[in-house]
Amino acid sequence: MENKKVYLDNAATTQTAPEVLEAMLPFFSQNYGNASSFHFFGRQAKAALDEARIDTAKLLNASPEEIFFTGCGSEADNIAIFGTLAKAQKKGHIITSKIEHHAVLYSCQELQKRGFEVTYLDVDKGGVVSVEHLKNSLKEDTLLVSIMHANNEIGTIQPIVEISKILKNVNKNKKNPIYFHSDAVQSAGKIKLDVKELGVDLLSLAAHKFNGPKGVGALYVRKGTFIFPVMFGGHHENGLRPGTENIASIIGFSKALELSNSRIAVTHKKNLILREKLKDGILNSIPDTIINGSGHNSISCILNVSFKFIEGESLLLRLDMKGIAASAGSACATGSAEPSHVLSAIGLDAVSAQGSVRFSFGFYNTQEDVDYVLKVLPDIVESLRSMSPVYKKTSNSY
Ligand SMILES: *Cc1c(COP(=O)(O)O)cnc(C)c1O
Repeated sequence: MENKKVYLDNAATTQTAPEVLEAMLPFFSQNYGNASSFHFFGRQAKAALDEARIDTAKLLNASPEEIFFTGCGSEADNIAIFGTLAKAQKKGHIITSKIEHHAVLYSCQELQKRGFEVTYLDVDKGGVVSVEHLKNSLKEDTLLVSIMHANNEIGTIQPIVEISKILKNVNKNKKNPIYFHSDAVQSAGKIKLDVKELGVDLLSLAAHKFNGPKGVGALYVRKGTFIFPVMFGGHHENGLRPGTENIASIIGFSKALELSNSRIAVTHKKNLILREKLKDGILNSIPDTIINGSGHNSISCILNVSFKFIEGESLLLRLDMKGIAASAGSACATGSAEPSHVLSAIGLDAVSAQGSVRFSFGFYNTQEDVDYVLKVLPDIVESLRSMSPVYKKTSNSY
């Protein structure tokens, strides 16, 4: 038992699938050419790159020319946002939500500093943006709407199709269309993504969230979308993203997306069982807990729980000592004393937000993992609460 390790932080990153790693390996050792080189080695790399782009495009129902590989999900978000606004004739208006990943949120904040106006949409208690509210927030000079597909802290899925329908309608009467970007980093590989069905102009993905390698992402850019590079240096990725292509990782990206897509239904069902088991187990054995997020319209791999009267960080430390890896909301927020912006946005009070922990499942988790968590978690919570003056006071007042 001492060495037991349970990884329940798959929303932060996932294990690279062995099949994916195997597909990548030759591109480190034998086929190590630069895809821009003229010789045999280069041509071999270029052929692999082309194939990965074709495969990825097919999986997303896009054309190969619409797929741009990037260094990560954050980079895809940045290129989407800054790239579509780079040549804006005038500073205009952007709509996003309060629960976006920091890659989008901080990009928008930066644009505010540069003179753009940004509307940060509220979400309801379940974490969903109101389509009506979004519609009413549109302005004459709105240039871009960026709404994530699935949230990385509570798993809620946003009404992307409805939003794109509204924007398409508005765009009919506009000379310069409002572009629609969605950060699908958390939903890719978990929900079947079809860019035509979603109706987006830009979509961000990152391989390491769906059993691919870290450090590679992709941006879908619909044909006809006016996008300008934000980095300069080479003609790679059709001039949008300079730098020698990371062939091994790009192969890993396309292989991982193919693999994840092929087992979406299985993974979803399995994760749902694990999530419900953990949720019910926690609710049945630990009083004063809140489940955050709507639950039903969400990706099945995330369970966000607030344990009242304790600090999430202390709980994570104790879980870590038992070999259990979870997270306080977003990995990027770890170490900061600020309550999660997502939990604040769904109306959770700061104290409950501080006591929240995100458990996130992946393809390799088992029932035994959940059993083990349920075995050790109640005692840890009880022990932390027994040290909390707030808890005693509240319990005594019943
Ligand atoms: C992880 C994540 C990102 C960032 O992806 P990186 O590849 O780590 O840069 C962006 N958006 C969401 C929703 C994520 O979960």
